[in-house]
Amino acid sequence: MRVLLTGGAGYIGSHTAVELINAGHTPIIADNYSNSCPEAVERIGRITGCNVETHTIDMCDAEAVDKLFAEGHFDACIHFAGLKAVGESVSIPIQYYRNNIDSTLVLLDAMQRHGVCNLIFSSSATVYGTPDKLPLTEDSPTGGCTNPYGWTKYMIEQIIRDAAVANPELSAVLLRYFNPVGAHASGLIGEDPSGIPNNLMPFISQVAVGRRHHLSIFGNDYNTPDGTGVRDYIHVVDLAKGHVAALPYCDSHKGCIAVNLGTGTGYSVKQMAEAFAEINGVPVPYEYAPRRPGDIDACYADPTRARELLGWEAQLGLSEMCRDTWNWQKNNPQGYKGAD
Ligand code: NAD
Ligand code: UDP
Repeated sequence: MRVLLTGGAGYIGSHTAVELINAGHTPIIADNYSNSCPEAVERIGRITGCNVETHTIDMCDAEAVDKLFAEGHFDACIHFAGLKAVGESVSIPIQYYRNNIDSTLVLLDAMQRHGVCNLIFSSSATVYGTPDKLPLTEDSPTGGCTNPYGWTKYMIEQIIRDAAVANPELSAVLLRYFNPVGAHASGLIGEDPSGIPNNLMPFISQVAVGRRHHLSIFGNDYNTPDGTGVRDYIHVVDLAKGHVAALPYCDSHKGCIAVNLGTGTGYSVKQMAEAFAEINGVPVPYEYAPRRPGDIDACYADPTRARELLGWEAQLGLSEMCRDTWNWQKNNPQGYKGAD
């Protein structure tokens, strides 16, 4: 299938491009590089031996997107494009609502006009807000998000659901990612946050590589076995394969469905830091710090629906997550910026 990847030069999009190519599909990337760089696309080429067609385009630009669709002959779209920094979304909410929602509206409009019916959307476990019961199934209550970023995901899910009611030809899969970590085993592509990382795994790996002094563990008085927050970390290659698995489902069904992509297993912050140090033989000094506002005790998926509907299950465990994150970080200590 010819699959448009909006935001395809980013962390999850680049790994998905590789897995799509491995599965015989043709990814086409559209990205404005607001949080990525063309080097990532070069690296996809080095891993797969394929030159990926790429368009530098803002997905909020309706005219440019219309032109892209007029020439693209896409069979499906995977909508990764979006701003994703939780803290930043609190400081600049309007930019977050505008970018994330406008890009989705522009995409849905272009899909309808050009008869493209298959959509996979990058949603997030953040739509569940503060869980009242674990593990989270797709029928768990949503809403109660703790920041504008989370609300954009919640609102976009609703917009796509409404679009699928109005257009019976539309088929949409809302993939609710848990916590993506890791990198391609080649060490050529990985997560390259700009500035100080917000997320745990890039922070740990930057401590290990010497870019940061120590990890601050945000809170050790949560209602979890060791008091530190518990999350469902999923290897980005497994996550990417989840998108490949969602394509045939999307193509053979109509309507809109949400599917969790997680492993079903939760690890604490302390376990993550200690596992990273042990598996890679590098020190990860940490100190306890106050809780981060908006954080919850624990969050992990019930991944049954993904197994039953998509035939997908996470294959990679904590050691691969830690090993591949470190392989990427130590080969690219400054991320893509350090590339020749
Ligand atoms: P990323 O920032 O690495 O990738 C997003 C890409 O979208 C970037 O390449 C960026 O340049 C591009 N982009 C942003 N706005 C755009 C626009 N208007 N037009 C064109 N391109 C645009 O982030 P990621 O981690 O790869 O996440 C991909 C998607 O998955 C995002 O929608 C994110 O919200 C969602 N998600 C990510 C996580 C996570 O922890 N990484 C968890 C849940 C959901
Ligand atoms: N965390 C931490 N120190 C950091 C970054 C994150 O202790 O520097 C914790 C955070 O409080 C949460 C977990 O690590 O319990 C995962 O946070 P992340 O931001 O990666 O993902 P979230 O689940 O918040 O989306």
